Amino acid sequence: MGKSMRNKKRKKINMGRFLPESVECNNCHEMLTDIEAMDPKPFPGIDGIGCARCPVCRDYTWAFVGEAEAVLMAKEALMETYME
Ligand SMILES: [Zn+2]
Repeated sequence: MGKSMRNKKRKKINMGRFLPESVECNNCHEMLTDIEAMDPKPFPGIDGIGCARCPVCRDYTWAFVGEAEAVLMAKEALMETYME
């Protein structure tokens, strides 16, 4: 039982290990340090995806780490999902 809990924790760390410590808000250029790691598995070539909500303008800023082409594709897919 304790083992499965440890595994869960490690997985979470792995998901965010490629992400930067901070991203700049797309909208107002505030530095955002509270980046939530998301599962990059659905996107081949992507090492990490993060989402941060700006406390100033409340806009969402995404951070992608991976191959340039894969980043573009993942961005498009996520924008479509979140614009609906
Ligand atoms: Zn902002």
